[in-house]
Amino acid sequence: MKTVANYNFQNQRAIVRVDFNVPLNAEFKITDDSRIKAALPTINKILKDGGSVILMSHLGRPKDGPTDKYSLKHIIAHLSDLLKLPVQFADDCISDEAKNKATNLKSGEVLLLENLRFHKQEEKGDDAFAQTLASMADVYVNDAFGTAHRAHASTTIIANHFSKEKKMFGFLMAAEVENARKVILHPERPFTAIIGGAKVSDKILIIEKLMDTVDALIIGGGMTYTFLKAQGKQIGKSLCEEDKINTAKALITMALQKNVKLLLPVDSIVADKFATDANTQTVDNENIPADWMGLDIGAKTIELFAAQIKNSKTILWNGPMGVFEMPAFENGTKQTAIAIAEATKNGAFSLIGGGDSAAAIHQFNMASQVSYVSTGGGALLEFFEGKELPGVAAIEK
Ligand code: AMP
Repeated sequence: MKTVANYNFQNQRAIVRVDFNVPLNAEFKITDDSRIKAALPTINKILKDGGSVILMSHLGRPKDGPTDKYSLKHIIAHLSDLLKLPVQFADDCISDEAKNKATNLKSGEVLLLENLRFHKQEEKGDDAFAQTLASMADVYVNDAFGTAHRAHASTTIIANHFSKEKKMFGFLMAAEVENARKVILHPERPFTAIIGGAKVSDKILIIEKLMDTVDALIIGGGMTYTFLKAQGKQIGKSLCEEDKINTAKALITMALQKNVKLLLPVDSIVADKFATDANTQTVDNENIPADWMGLDIGAKTIELFAAQIKNSKTILWNGPMGVFEMPAFENGTKQTAIAIAEATKNGAFSLIGGGDSAAAIHQFNMASQVSYVSTGGGALLEFFEGKELPGVAAIEK
Protein backbone atom coordinates (compact mmCIF):
# COMPACT_ATOMS: atom_id res chain seq x y z
CA MET A 1 0.00 0.00 0.00
CA LYS A 2 1.39 3.39 -0.98
CA THR A 3 1.40 5.58 2.12
CA VAL A 4 3.18 8.64 3.45
CA ALA A 5 5.27 6.29 5.62
CA ASN A 6 7.47 5.26 2.70
CA TYR A 7 7.88 8.59 0.95
CA ASN A 8 10.42 11.34 1.59
CA PHE A 9 8.74 14.74 1.35
CA GLN A 10 11.90 16.84 1.46
CA ASN A 11 11.35 19.98 -0.64
CA GLN A 12 8.02 18.58 -1.81
CA ARG A 13 4.75 20.47 -1.66
CA ALA A 14 2.01 18.05 -0.66
CA ILE A 15 -1.68 18.78 -1.12
CA VAL A 16 -3.49 16.77 1.55
CA ARG A 17 -7.23 16.03 1.52
CA VAL A 18 -8.22 15.95 5.17
CA ASP A 19 -11.58 15.67 6.88
CA PHE A 20 -11.86 18.86 8.94
CA ASN A 21 -15.65 18.68 8.89
CA VAL A 22 -15.77 19.36 12.63
CA PRO A 23 -18.80 20.41 14.68
CA LEU A 24 -18.82 24.12 15.61
CA ASN A 25 -21.03 25.82 18.21
CA ALA A 26 -22.86 29.15 17.79
CA GLU A 27 -19.64 31.03 18.67
CA PHE A 28 -17.73 29.02 16.03
CA LYS A 29 -15.78 27.12 18.67
CA ILE A 30 -14.91 23.54 17.78
CA THR A 31 -16.87 21.18 20.05
CA ASP A 32 -15.05 18.00 18.98
CA ASP A 33 -11.60 18.24 17.38
CA SER A 34 -10.96 14.53 16.95
CA ARG A 35 -11.04 14.75 13.15
CA ILE A 36 -8.33 17.41 13.18
CA LYS A 37 -6.23 15.44 15.65
CA ALA A 38 -6.59 12.34 13.46
CA ALA A 39 -4.85 14.15 10.59
CA LEU A 40 -1.88 15.41 12.63
CA PRO A 41 0.40 12.36 12.20
CA THR A 42 0.26 12.72 8.41
CA ILE A 43 0.81 16.48 8.46
CA ASN A 44 3.68 16.19 10.94
CA LYS A 45 5.40 13.44 8.94
CA ILE A 46 5.46 15.64 5.82
CA LEU A 47 6.75 18.65 7.75
CA LYS A 48 9.38 16.60 9.56
CA ASP A 49 10.71 15.34 6.24
CA GLY A 50 11.20 18.96 5.16
CA GLY A 51 8.12 19.23 2.98
CA SER A 52 5.31 21.77 3.01
CA VAL A 53 1.59 21.10 3.35
CA ILE A 54 -1.48 22.46 1.59
CA LEU A 55 -4.58 21.32 3.47
CA MET A 56 -7.98 21.05 1.81
CA SER A 57 -11.30 19.96 3.29
CA HIS A 58 -15.02 20.51 3.24
CA LEU A 59 -17.01 21.83 6.20
CA GLY A 60 -20.74 21.27 6.45
CA ARG A 61 -23.05 21.43 3.47
CA PRO A 62 -22.95 24.95 2.03
CA LYS A 63 -25.67 25.29 -0.58
CA ASP A 64 -24.95 28.63 -2.26
CA GLY A 65 -21.25 29.32 -2.38
CA PRO A 66 -19.26 31.04 0.37
CA THR A 67 -21.09 31.15 3.71
CA ASP A 68 -19.43 32.50 6.85
CA LYS A 69 -20.94 29.71 8.95
CA TYR A 70 -19.07 27.10 6.92
CA SER A 71 -15.75 28.92 6.59
CA LEU A 72 -12.66 26.96 7.52
CA LYS A 73 -11.19 30.20 8.89
CA HIS A 74 -12.93 29.25 12.15
CA ILE A 75 -10.51 26.41 12.67
CA ILE A 76 -7.21 28.20 11.87
CA ALA A 77 -6.37 29.16 15.47
CA HIS A 78 -7.02 25.70 16.86
CA LEU A 79 -5.16 23.95 14.06
CA SER A 80 -2.25 26.28 14.63
CA ASP A 81 -2.26 25.45 18.37
CA LEU A 82 -2.27 21.71 17.64
CA LEU A 83 0.55 21.97 15.08
CA LYS A 84 2.45 24.52 17.18
CA LEU A 85 2.96 26.46 13.93
CA PRO A 86 1.39 29.44 12.21
CA VAL A 87 -1.14 28.34 9.58
CA GLN A 88 -1.57 30.42 6.42
CA PHE A 89 -5.04 30.67 4.90
CA ALA A 90 -6.35 31.24 1.38
CA ASP A 91 -9.94 32.43 1.43
CA ASP A 92 -10.84 30.78 -1.87
CA CYS A 93 -9.41 27.37 -2.61
CA ILE A 94 -8.67 27.97 -6.32
CA SER A 95 -8.02 31.74 -6.41
CA ASP A 96 -4.79 33.40 -7.56
CA GLU A 97 -4.17 34.16 -3.89
CA ALA A 98 -4.30 30.42 -3.12
CA LYS A 99 -1.96 29.63 -6.03
CA ASN A 100 0.51 32.37 -5.01
CA LYS A 101 0.54 31.30 -1.40
CA ALA A 102 1.07 27.71 -2.49
CA THR A 103 3.94 28.68 -4.80
CA ASN A 104 5.67 30.65 -2.05
CA LEU A 105 5.24 27.95 0.59
CA LYS A 106 8.58 27.01 2.18
CA SER A 107 9.63 23.74 3.78
CA GLY A 108 7.91 23.35 7.14
CA GLU A 109 5.03 25.71 6.28
CA VAL A 110 1.31 24.98 6.22
CA LEU A 111 -1.42 26.53 4.07
CA LEU A 112 -5.11 25.84 4.66
CA LEU A 113 -7.48 26.34 1.74
CA GLU A 114 -11.03 27.62 2.22
CA ASN A 115 -13.93 25.14 2.16
CA LEU A 116 -13.84 23.15 -1.09
CA ARG A 117 -17.62 22.95 -1.20
CA PHE A 118 -17.93 26.71 -1.70
CA HIS A 119 -17.42 25.66 -5.32
CA LYS A 120 -20.07 23.38 -6.79
CA GLN A 121 -17.36 21.76 -8.94
CA GLU A 122 -16.05 19.91 -5.87
CA GLU A 123 -19.04 17.60 -5.43
CA LYS A 124 -19.55 17.37 -9.19
CA GLY A 125 -16.06 15.92 -9.51
CA ASP A 126 -15.14 18.62 -12.02
CA ASP A 127 -11.83 17.86 -13.72
CA ALA A 128 -10.71 21.46 -14.35
CA PHE A 129 -11.32 22.31 -10.68
CA ALA A 130 -9.37 19.21 -9.64
CA GLN A 131 -6.55 20.13 -11.98
CA THR A 132 -6.29 23.63 -10.49
CA LEU A 133 -5.96 22.13 -7.03
CA ALA A 134 -3.42 19.60 -8.31
CA SER A 135 -1.34 22.33 -9.99
CA MET A 136 -0.47 23.77 -6.58
CA ALA A 137 1.46 20.70 -5.40
CA ASP A 138 4.04 18.03 -6.26
CA VAL A 139 2.35 15.23 -4.34
CA TYR A 140 -1.26 14.27 -3.48
CA VAL A 141 -2.13 12.67 -0.16
CA ASN A 142 -5.62 11.47 0.74
CA ASP A 143 -6.26 11.20 4.48
CA ALA A 144 -10.05 11.67 4.44
CA PHE A 145 -11.61 8.22 4.73
CA GLY A 146 -14.98 9.75 5.61
CA THR A 147 -15.39 10.97 2.02
CA ALA A 148 -13.68 8.04 0.28
CA HIS A 149 -17.03 6.79 -1.07
CA ARG A 150 -17.54 10.02 -3.01
CA ALA A 151 -15.98 10.66 -6.42
CA HIS A 152 -15.48 14.34 -5.65
CA ALA A 153 -12.80 16.52 -7.22
CA SER A 154 -10.56 16.58 -4.13
CA THR A 155 -11.11 12.96 -3.08
CA THR A 156 -10.84 11.16 -6.40
CA ILE A 157 -10.54 13.17 -9.63
CA ILE A 158 -7.46 15.08 -8.46
CA ALA A 159 -5.52 11.80 -8.25
CA ASN A 160 -5.64 11.53 -12.07
CA HIS A 161 -3.28 14.49 -12.19
CA PHE A 162 -0.48 12.77 -10.29
CA SER A 163 1.71 9.85 -11.31
CA LYS A 164 1.46 6.63 -9.29
CA GLU A 165 4.57 7.56 -7.24
CA LYS A 166 3.17 10.98 -6.38
CA LYS A 167 -0.17 9.97 -4.86
CA MET A 168 -0.66 8.07 -1.63
CA PHE A 169 -2.70 7.47 1.52
CA GLY A 170 -2.17 9.38 4.75
CA PHE A 171 -1.75 7.41 7.97
CA LEU A 172 -5.43 7.62 8.95
CA MET A 173 -6.74 6.54 5.57
CA ALA A 174 -4.20 3.71 5.38
CA ALA A 175 -5.23 2.42 8.81
CA GLU A 176 -8.92 2.57 7.87
CA VAL A 177 -8.41 0.65 4.64
CA GLU A 178 -6.07 -1.90 6.21
CA ASN A 179 -8.38 -2.63 9.14
CA ALA A 180 -11.46 -2.94 6.95
CA ARG A 181 -9.62 -5.27 4.56
CA LYS A 182 -8.27 -7.34 7.43
CA VAL A 183 -11.84 -8.00 8.61
CA ILE A 184 -13.29 -8.94 5.26
CA LEU A 185 -10.32 -10.65 3.60
CA HIS A 186 -8.55 -12.40 6.47
CA PRO A 187 -10.98 -12.82 9.36
CA GLU A 188 -9.91 -15.13 12.12
CA ARG A 189 -12.88 -17.37 12.91
CA PRO A 190 -15.48 -17.36 14.28
CA PHE A 191 -16.36 -14.07 12.59
CA THR A 192 -19.45 -12.35 13.98
CA ALA A 193 -21.08 -9.26 12.50
CA ILE A 194 -23.46 -7.21 14.62
CA ILE A 195 -25.81 -5.08 12.58
CA GLY A 196 -28.20 -2.68 14.30
CA GLY A 197 -29.71 0.70 13.68
CA ALA A 198 -33.09 1.96 12.71
CA LYS A 199 -33.94 0.58 9.31
CA VAL A 200 -33.62 -2.68 7.40
CA SER A 201 -33.64 -0.70 4.16
CA ASP A 202 -30.30 0.95 5.07
CA LYS A 203 -28.66 -2.36 5.88
CA ILE A 204 -29.94 -4.85 3.28
CA LEU A 205 -26.83 -4.64 1.12
CA ILE A 206 -24.36 -5.00 3.96
CA ILE A 207 -26.30 -7.93 5.46
CA GLU A 208 -26.45 -9.73 2.10
CA LYS A 209 -22.76 -9.19 1.47
CA LEU A 210 -21.66 -10.21 4.96
CA MET A 211 -23.58 -13.48 4.67
CA ASP A 212 -20.88 -14.60 2.21
CA THR A 213 -18.20 -14.26 4.87
CA VAL A 214 -19.45 -14.31 8.45
CA ASP A 215 -20.08 -17.31 10.69
CA ALA A 216 -22.70 -15.50 12.73
CA LEU A 217 -24.90 -12.47 12.18
CA ILE A 218 -26.50 -10.62 15.07
CA ILE A 219 -29.41 -8.33 14.27
CA GLY A 220 -30.54 -5.65 16.73
CA GLY A 221 -32.00 -2.15 16.92
CA GLY A 222 -35.17 -0.89 15.30
CA MET A 223 -34.86 -3.16 12.28
CA THR A 224 -35.38 -6.17 14.55
CA TYR A 225 -39.11 -5.66 14.42
CA THR A 226 -39.42 -5.95 10.65
CA PHE A 227 -37.66 -9.32 10.99
CA LEU A 228 -39.99 -10.35 13.84
CA LYS A 229 -43.03 -9.38 11.79
CA ALA A 230 -41.62 -11.43 8.92
CA GLN A 231 -41.68 -14.37 11.35
CA GLY A 232 -45.36 -13.70 12.01
CA LYS A 233 -44.91 -12.08 15.44
CA GLN A 234 -46.96 -9.19 16.83
CA ILE A 235 -44.71 -6.17 17.31
CA GLY A 236 -47.11 -3.56 18.70
CA LYS A 237 -46.09 -0.04 17.75
CA SER A 238 -42.44 -0.89 17.17
CA LEU A 239 -40.67 0.44 14.11
CA CYS A 240 -41.60 -1.59 11.05
CA GLU A 241 -40.93 -1.20 7.36
CA GLU A 242 -43.95 -2.96 5.86
CA ASP A 243 -42.40 -2.92 2.40
CA LYS A 244 -39.31 -4.72 3.68
CA ILE A 245 -41.04 -7.66 5.34
CA ASN A 246 -40.42 -9.86 2.31
CA THR A 247 -36.80 -8.73 2.23
CA ALA A 248 -36.45 -9.72 5.88
CA LYS A 249 -37.97 -13.13 5.07
CA ALA A 250 -35.50 -13.55 2.20
CA LEU A 251 -32.58 -12.64 4.46
CA ILE A 252 -33.67 -15.21 7.04
CA THR A 253 -33.80 -17.86 4.29
CA MET A 254 -30.44 -16.74 2.94
CA ALA A 255 -28.86 -17.23 6.37
CA LEU A 256 -30.14 -20.80 6.43
CA GLN A 257 -28.88 -21.49 2.91
CA LYS A 258 -25.47 -20.01 3.60
CA ASN A 259 -25.16 -21.71 6.93
CA VAL A 260 -24.86 -18.43 8.81
CA LYS A 261 -25.97 -18.50 12.43
CA LEU A 262 -28.59 -15.73 12.58
CA LEU A 263 -29.30 -14.33 16.03
CA LEU A 264 -32.39 -12.19 16.45
CA PRO A 265 -33.45 -10.57 19.74
CA VAL A 266 -35.69 -12.73 21.93
CA ASP A 267 -36.89 -9.99 24.28
CA SER A 268 -37.27 -6.21 24.29
CA ILE A 269 -37.53 -3.24 26.58
CA VAL A 270 -40.81 -1.79 25.41
CA ALA A 271 -42.09 1.72 26.06
CA ASP A 272 -45.54 3.30 25.91
CA LYS A 273 -44.13 6.30 24.01
CA PHE A 274 -40.92 7.34 22.22
CA ALA A 275 -39.53 9.38 25.11
CA THR A 276 -36.97 9.20 27.92
CA ASP A 277 -39.70 9.37 30.55
CA ALA A 278 -41.88 6.66 28.97
CA ASN A 279 -43.21 3.80 31.08
CA THR A 280 -41.20 0.70 30.30
CA GLN A 281 -41.29 -3.06 30.80
CA THR A 282 -39.28 -6.00 29.52
CA VAL A 283 -41.24 -8.56 27.53
CA ASP A 284 -40.46 -11.62 25.40
CA ASN A 285 -40.72 -10.83 21.72
CA GLU A 286 -43.60 -13.32 21.50
CA ASN A 287 -45.63 -11.00 23.75
CA ILE A 288 -45.18 -7.37 22.72
CA PRO A 289 -48.32 -5.54 23.87
CA ALA A 290 -50.32 -3.81 21.12
CA ASP A 291 -49.78 -0.21 22.26
CA TRP A 292 -46.09 -0.50 23.14
CA MET A 293 -42.92 -0.18 21.11
CA GLY A 294 -39.58 -1.98 21.42
CA LEU A 295 -36.78 0.51 22.00
CA ASP A 296 -33.96 -1.71 23.28
CA ILE A 297 -32.98 -5.36 23.56
CA GLY A 298 -33.85 -7.12 26.82
CA ALA A 299 -31.70 -9.01 29.33
CA LYS A 300 -32.13 -12.45 27.71
CA THR A 301 -31.04 -11.06 24.35
CA ILE A 302 -28.04 -9.36 25.92
CA GLU A 303 -26.98 -12.70 27.36
CA LEU A 304 -27.52 -14.50 24.04
CA PHE A 305 -25.59 -11.90 22.05
CA ALA A 306 -22.78 -11.56 24.61
CA ALA A 307 -22.17 -15.33 24.56
CA GLN A 308 -21.77 -15.27 20.77
CA ILE A 309 -19.59 -12.16 20.82
CA LYS A 310 -17.27 -13.50 23.51
CA ASN A 311 -16.76 -16.67 21.44
CA SER A 312 -15.70 -14.75 18.35
CA LYS A 313 -12.25 -13.97 17.03
CA THR A 314 -13.32 -11.26 14.57
CA ILE A 315 -16.13 -8.81 15.29
CA LEU A 316 -17.65 -6.14 13.08
CA TRP A 317 -20.20 -3.84 14.69
CA ASN A 318 -22.39 -1.42 12.76
CA GLY A 319 -25.46 0.18 14.30
CA PRO A 320 -26.82 0.42 17.87
CA MET A 321 -29.01 -2.20 19.56
CA GLY A 322 -31.55 0.35 20.77
CA VAL A 323 -32.28 4.04 21.11
CA PHE A 324 -28.96 4.58 22.87
CA GLU A 325 -29.33 8.36 22.78
CA MET A 326 -31.90 8.01 25.60
CA PRO A 327 -30.48 6.70 28.90
CA ALA A 328 -33.52 4.45 29.42
CA PHE A 329 -32.72 2.55 26.21
CA GLU A 330 -28.92 2.59 26.09
CA ASN A 331 -28.22 -0.57 28.08
CA GLY A 332 -28.40 -3.08 25.21
CA THR A 333 -25.91 -1.08 23.18
CA LYS A 334 -23.67 -0.59 26.22
CA GLN A 335 -23.68 -4.29 27.14
CA THR A 336 -22.86 -5.14 23.53
CA ALA A 337 -19.88 -2.78 23.73
CA ILE A 338 -18.81 -4.40 27.00
CA ALA A 339 -18.98 -7.89 25.46
CA ILE A 340 -16.92 -6.70 22.47
CA ALA A 341 -14.36 -5.16 24.83
CA GLU A 342 -14.08 -8.44 26.69
CA ALA A 343 -13.65 -10.43 23.47
CA THR A 344 -11.00 -7.94 22.36
CA LYS A 345 -9.16 -8.34 25.66
CA ASN A 346 -9.14 -12.08 24.98
CA GLY A 347 -7.54 -11.67 21.56
CA ALA A 348 -10.38 -10.94 19.14
CA PHE A 349 -10.06 -8.22 16.50
CA SER A 350 -12.98 -5.79 16.73
CA LEU A 351 -13.86 -3.10 14.21
CA ILE A 352 -16.57 -0.61 15.09
CA GLY A 353 -18.07 1.90 12.71
CA GLY A 354 -20.26 2.89 9.89
CA GLY A 355 -22.51 5.26 11.79
CA ASP A 356 -24.00 5.43 15.22
CA SER A 357 -22.16 2.50 16.78
CA ALA A 358 -18.99 4.63 16.68
CA ALA A 359 -20.91 7.46 18.37
CA ALA A 360 -22.12 4.96 20.98
CA ILE A 361 -18.66 3.60 21.76
CA HIS A 362 -17.44 7.17 22.31
CA GLN A 363 -20.51 7.92 24.46
CA PHE A 364 -19.54 5.02 26.72
CA ASN A 365 -15.85 6.07 26.72
CA MET A 366 -14.90 2.62 25.47
CA ALA A 367 -13.07 3.44 22.22
CA SER A 368 -9.73 2.35 23.69
CA GLN A 369 -11.14 -1.08 24.60
CA VAL A 370 -11.84 -2.21 21.05
CA SER A 371 -9.35 -2.82 18.24
CA TYR A 372 -10.37 -0.01 15.91
CA VAL A 373 -13.11 2.61 15.70
CA SER A 374 -13.57 3.75 12.14
CA THR A 375 -14.01 7.43 11.33
CA GLY A 376 -15.91 6.57 8.17
CA GLY A 377 -19.70 6.39 8.38
CA GLY A 378 -21.01 5.92 4.87
CA ALA A 379 -17.58 5.00 3.52
CA LEU A 380 -17.19 2.03 5.86
CA LEU A 381 -20.74 0.88 5.18
CA GLU A 382 -20.13 0.98 1.42
CA PHE A 383 -16.85 -0.87 1.83
CA PHE A 384 -18.64 -3.74 3.57
CA GLU A 385 -21.40 -3.63 0.98
CA GLY A 386 -18.66 -4.71 -1.41
CA LYS A 387 -18.52 -1.44 -3.33
CA GLU A 388 -15.29 -0.02 -4.62
CA LEU A 389 -14.51 3.25 -2.83
CA PRO A 390 -13.55 5.78 -5.53
CA GLY A 391 -11.15 7.61 -3.19
CA VAL A 392 -9.26 4.38 -2.51
CA ALA A 393 -9.29 3.17 -6.10
CA ALA A 394 -7.97 6.51 -7.35
CA ILE A 395 -4.78 6.10 -5.31
CA GLU A 396 -4.31 2.42 -6.10
CA LYS A 397 -4.94 2.33 -9.82
P1 AMP B 1 -28.33 3.80 12.00
O1 AMP B 1 -27.93 5.21 11.65
O2 AMP B 1 -29.05 3.07 10.91
O3 AMP B 1 -27.21 3.04 12.60
O4 AMP B 1 -29.48 3.95 13.11
C1 AMP B 1 -29.22 4.53 14.33
C2 AMP B 1 -30.50 4.99 14.96
O5 AMP B 1 -31.34 3.87 15.18
C3 AMP B 1 -30.24 5.62 16.29
O6 AMP B 1 -30.61 6.96 16.24
C4 AMP B 1 -31.15 4.84 17.23
O7 AMP B 1 -31.84 5.66 18.15
C5 AMP B 1 -32.13 4.18 16.30
N1 AMP B 1 -32.73 2.98 16.89
C6 AMP B 1 -32.10 1.93 17.41
N2 AMP B 1 -32.97 1.03 17.92
C7 AMP B 1 -34.19 1.53 17.70
C8 AMP B 1 -35.51 1.07 17.99
N3 AMP B 1 -35.72 -0.09 18.61
N4 AMP B 1 -36.55 1.86 17.62
C9 AMP B 1 -36.34 3.02 16.99
N5 AMP B 1 -35.12 3.51 16.69
C10 AMP B 1 -34.06 2.78 17.02
